[in-house]
Amino acid sequence: MQSKAKLTGKVTLVGAGPGDPGLVAWKAVRALESADVVIYDFLANPELLAHAKKAEHIYVGKRADQHTLPQQEINQLLVDKAKTGQHVVRLKGGDPFVFGRGGEEALMLKKHEIPFEIIPGVTAGIAAAAYAGIPVTHRGLATSVSLITGHEDPTKESSQLDWQALANLHGTLVFYMGMRQLPHIVEQLQRYGKSGDTPVAVVSHGTSPRQKSVTATMKHIVEQVKQNRLEAPAVIIVGPVVTLKNELDWYEKLSLLGKRIVVTRSRAQASELAQQLTDLGAEVITFPTIKIVAPDSWHPVDQAINRLHTYQWIVFTSVNGVDAFFQRMTLLNKDTRALAACQIAAIGPATADRLARYGIKADLMPEKFVAEEVLASLGGLDLAGKNFLLPRTDIARDTLINGLQDMGAHVDQIIVYRTVIESDHDPDTLQTIKNGDFDLVTFTSSSTVTNFVNQFDGQALPNCSAACIGPITEKTARKHGFKVKIIPEHYTIPSLVNAIVEQAEKEKQSEMIMPNKRISS
Ligand code: SAH
Repeated sequence: MQSKAKLTGKVTLVGAGPGDPGLVAWKAVRALESADVVIYDFLANPELLAHAKKAEHIYVGKRADQHTLPQQEINQLLVDKAKTGQHVVRLKGGDPFVFGRGGEEALMLKKHEIPFEIIPGVTAGIAAAAYAGIPVTHRGLATSVSLITGHEDPTKESSQLDWQALANLHGTLVFYMGMRQLPHIVEQLQRYGKSGDTPVAVVSHGTSPRQKSVTATMKHIVEQVKQNRLEAPAVIIVGPVVTLKNELDWYEKLSLLGKRIVVTRSRAQASELAQQLTDLGAEVITFPTIKIVAPDSWHPVDQAINRLHTYQWIVFTSVNGVDAFFQRMTLLNKDTRALAACQIAAIGPATADRLARYGIKADLMPEKFVAEEVLASLGGLDLAGKNFLLPRTDIARDTLINGLQDMGAHVDQIIVYRTVIESDHDPDTLQTIKNGDFDLVTFTSSSTVTNFVNQFDGQALPNCSAACIGPITEKTARKHGFKVKIIPEHYTIPSLVNAIVEQAEKEKQSEMIMPNKRISS
């Protein structure tokens, strides 16, 4: 008996939310992290799987018309996997208990005496409404909200929906799975007495960068949905609260909503830029072109670290350089006191911020964040005979080293990390990029440009618009045929993001005059 009990795992039914991966519960992330198996649906955002690194991932599909695995078999799979002693996470779109068949799965687990728990998710009807600027209840407009399946054919004899009761409700009606039946839903509600002037909103792909919505009165909604080519998944929201969208619309107004932007930074560094763009509504395609790896030899680095007192200046030219240098110092049992005699320069604010994490306040940072400007800032000082240490990557330009030497300084450059090409890519992502199915590619260094191009046999992609962090990267991008539309005022990530937003706003204005289409396959 005991060994059998030991073998039984557990199942966590987890609501993945409606699309935006940021809407998932904290507890859901913890469950994913501890899962041995994740069984997920079409509607669960696959990005969430990144939290379940050690787990086996099983896709069981399920679209309205295309059941990859019948519910019975999904139930059986949950039971079988749990019986082998594993922690199974059943990841479902929205909330598991709102039109998610989570109840059926839980009953099956109960029957087999498998321990289970439920982590609710944000359900699409509430979340898509919120992202469309529609509060589902509102003082004076709606004191109740009903979540209704729109899947049923309302004309069939055995309809379980009480259309009379629904039409009589003064609260908000939210229909799920109702896109196909929209004409029937609207017809039934009017037949049972709802006014044709009742406001209706249809929100498609809610909470994702593909969100699109239309609002109209009930009598016009069908033609509006058709005209705007809205597609499933979508929720239909009926009631006076829909009028609040005029004032409370926010997500669909984000400057970058629906823009597909490729981020080419290394995986480790992409997230900051990706997050900022996502928060502005962009659909980010992470396509790392570079990878940061250890140098071929630490010997020269260790030698330099062991005689730091002999350097008057250390110049850091990247965040990666700072990290690699300080991590190595720690490994050699040294701390920042070893730098007490050195002046420290940072090429820009991100590098200075990273130094601050190690307790170092940079003594010098130029106005513009390129090597030439570091030289200019040092220009007023007498550098003759001064010893400089430059911890850097293997592919850095020689501008700084040459300039310092011209000023009479003695320079030791040490390679603390190497920048190599990243070629491990998801085939779908590669294809999307090959097809040019994006609006903008971002480059944050010359190496991101050359490596990007190299992934595609050296061919620049047709009509590719690029945003470059600074003039050096811009030059490389232009050389490879990119249309560089965006270069920020300051050569930093926040400034790059601002410049992208400004450009998008400009394009939006001109699109109002002349609609512009995405370059697509
Ligand atoms: N358990 C899910 C609902 C699954 S039923 C939840 O709680 O949200 C599938 C239906 O949910 C779709 O037909 C559609 O009506 C709705 N839906 C799911 N994701 C959606 C989204 N991102 N935007 C709009 N509607 C969505």
